Amino acid sequence: MAKRIKLAIGLGSTCSGCDIAILDLNEKILSLVALADIVFWPTAMDFKLSDLEQMQNNDIDVTLYHGTIRTSENEHIAHLLRERSKVMIAFGSCACFGGIPGLCNLTNKKEILETVYKETPSTVNPEFTTPKTKIAQDGHDLTLPELFNDARALPQIIDVDYYLPGCPPVVELIEKLVPIIANFLEKGELPPKGTVIASDKTLCEQCPLTKENKMISRIFRPHEIIPDPKRCLLEQGILCLGPATRGGCGARCINARMPCRGCMGPTAEAKDQGAKMVSAIASILGVENEKDLSEGDVEKLMSQIKDPVGTFYRFSLPVALVNRRVKEGG
Ligand code: SF4
Ligand code: SF4
Ligand code: SF4
Repeated sequence: MAKRIKLAIGLGSTCSGCDIAILDLNEKILSLVALADIVFWPTAMDFKLSDLEQMQNNDIDVTLYHGTIRTSENEHIAHLLRERSKVMIAFGSCACFGGIPGLCNLTNKKEILETVYKETPSTVNPEFTTPKTKIAQDGHDLTLPELFNDARALPQIIDVDYYLPGCPPVVELIEKLVPIIANFLEKGELPPKGTVIASDKTLCEQCPLTKENKMISRIFRPHEIIPDPKRCLLEQGILCLGPATRGGCGARCINARMPCRGCMGPTAEAKDQGAKMVSAIASILGVENEKDLSEGDVEKLMSQIKDPVGTFYRFSLPVALVNRRVKEGG
């Protein structure tokens, strides 16, 4: 029987869209299955945490890990998978950069629990009962997962070998794993540590729309304008994160006439995606008599950008240079 690798697909706090993305390989999944035995994939099969605990270190050849680190259980599994795996790949934007769940760093655990267990209109919880982290069972204390105050990306917890970004990663990038795994299996060779399985170019460099280096004087939300389908969306005033986002997704949102929201994360050069985008906007946002603007005029201009943090750091807040809002008592 041909030699095969042992593959695990592990998870943290996830929507499991990344699992679906793997299944979206359709018949191409057979090329992956031909190379690998799946030894852990709790979303798809009946694997338990105890299966992982019983394995020896380095028993798994390659782990694809998706999801953000939000709980003590996520952290425990991430450490365990790292110990059990020769190669660890952060799979999807949640694992690579914290992803959309990372926006919870704008609030804190106390406020989240209050909203969910007290303040929503449908909640009746006069004693403000919240999930316990310890219960007694069969005479023993059982420790349950605890929600952390912050969301963290996988590399902020464990050593990560490779990154495959996207929310979820596109099939064309997931397919690139097949030759990498085949090379590892046949020759024991791997790409340089830290390789991002995507493009080193920005999305703008791969975008099919035409850029004319035009300035803009106002920002439109996508529903406020019918854009020219051939021209750069940003140059038509629609916030498109292409200048600050790594390419490799095939410009799938642009091809659907929607601006890029930045799911492939920061470019190879710019580590802070939001800061890079703010600088890109500053260079394109211009008005006549700019130097005569009052502070109020500037504020009015900037107020056209709704939810700046959620827009510029939608997928990467936990790995940003300033990565959380601190609140008194939180
Ligand atoms: S990267 Fe996107 S698809 Fe994957 S788990 Fe996170 S939110 Fe879901
Ligand atoms: S800003 Fe957006 S629409 Fe414009 S070139 Fe870049 S990716 Fe394309
Ligand atoms: S266009 Fe932007 S948001 Fe859309 S898939 Fe590509 S990187 Fe993600």
